[in-house]
Amino acid sequence: MAEFTMELNDEQKEVRDWLHGFAADVIRPAAAEWDEREETPWPVIQEAAKVGIYSLDFYAQQYFDPTGLGIPMAMEELFWGDAGIALSIVGTGLAAVGVLANGTEEQIGTWIPQMYGDANDVKVAAFCSSEPDAGSDVASMRTRAVYDEAKDEWVLNGTKTWATNGGIANVHVVVAVVDPELGSKGHASFIVPPNTPGLSQGQKFKKHGIRASHTAEVVLENVRVPGSCLLGGKEKLDERLARARERAKSGGERVKNAAMATFEASRPAVGAMAVGTARAAYEVALEYASTREQFGRPIIDNQGVAFQLADMRTQIDAARLLVWRASWMAINGKPFTAAEGSMSKLFASETAKKVTAQAIQILGGNGYTREYPVERMHRDAAIYTIFEGTSEIQRLVIARTLSGMQIR
Ligand SMILES: Cc1cc2nc3c(=O)[nH]c(=O)nc-3n(C[C@H](O)[C@H](O)[C@H](O)COP(=O)(O)OP(=O)(O)OC[C@H]3O[C@@H](n4cnc5c(N)ncnc54)[C@H](O)[C@@H]3O)c2cc1C
Repeated sequence: MAEFTMELNDEQKEVRDWLHGFAADVIRPAAAEWDEREETPWPVIQEAAKVGIYSLDFYAQQYFDPTGLGIPMAMEELFWGDAGIALSIVGTGLAAVGVLANGTEEQIGTWIPQMYGDANDVKVAAFCSSEPDAGSDVASMRTRAVYDEAKDEWVLNGTKTWATNGGIANVHVVVAVVDPELGSKGHASFIVPPNTPGLSQGQKFKKHGIRASHTAEVVLENVRVPGSCLLGGKEKLDERLARARERAKSGGERVKNAAMATFEASRPAVGAMAVGTARAAYEVALEYASTREQFGRPIIDNQGVAFQLADMRTQIDAARLLVWRASWMAINGKPFTAAEGSMSKLFASETAKKVTAQAIQILGGNGYTREYPVERMHRDAAIYTIFEGTSEIQRLVIARTLSGMQIR
């Protein structure tokens, strides 16, 4: 097990500086344009693919870094550049992790490369779990997958919503109900290969922030996928369902849902995105406060402004520490006995919302305009307390873990 450290090693520092250069030179200058256009920034993704940032290799290298700091460091730098564009770059990773976590080696080898495409023909992927009536309450999912034994095919029907890259993805990973009696234990994940008939994009959402990231409904109408598209395979699914039925019969002993455990482990990555946005806004505010003069002196000369900056930086550093701790625990298989993954996401996302609002205040009228980036950062920051589990759901997870009670 790697020791917990707060010091990046030389190799990680090199990667961090390289990512920071890309974020500063390519992402940040394009941020305002793609925010206004509300479109996927394909040229920036292509550029990221050319230099190797948008690739399975890069993502896997960070994901399997034994110190656990690879992913949070990468997320912080890219999201420091711009949250909407960065989500367009890392969104495919969410679907890839879905396959890495549940797929067989063959499925991983077949589908993940198709999610990314290559530098000359870049593709994206989508992870589709949320539904109009199943957001926080994942167990009320309705999308059904029914097995057609004669053809060895699964037939998918339902409507997914809020899917990042939904409808424009080459590969969609879809979570569906295979046994409605078992609640969230009766769910399974499927690959929907490129150009499968029956899958279409529903409405594309016009959003408050992260507007360069495509978010849409995905409609599934008699979508037929081969048996080999069930992640993990039929045998494993049948065993899992049999165990769940057995437990349900014997009084429903509570077991931790595997999908929920995966979410808990991926939450620090969202925390790191929030740290990136918060740090970006703080840096703009610090620079502005040091140069803007009122009453014959820089506004930072007032404790009222300087103390706000002190609080902002303190909270950003505290958020990063929680994120790094949880990431280190997750990669080293240390159990989250106090829901440390949720803790890190909760604190970092709330910090990003607070810090970006303070940045607007410090920039005064300028902060409220699109001439300066902090109003965009504030709009972007609002997503972190919503996706991958809202702040209320994180508190629920933490409180349940601490108390062992089914707090509602
Ligand atoms: C931009 C964007 C991108 C997204 N990308 C994806 C994606 O790629 N794939 C995907 O599957 N999903 C995605 N999502 C969906 C996201 O995960 C959900 O929006 C989120 O889980 C919340 O669900 P909901 O919107 O239905 O809100 P609801 O669950 O309806 O919640 C509404 C409010 O009620 C509160 N609430 C609900 N239950 C409780 C409770 N028990 N106790 C206290 N408060 C409660 C919530 O905290 C929230 O404040 C995305 C969402 C957005 C906005």
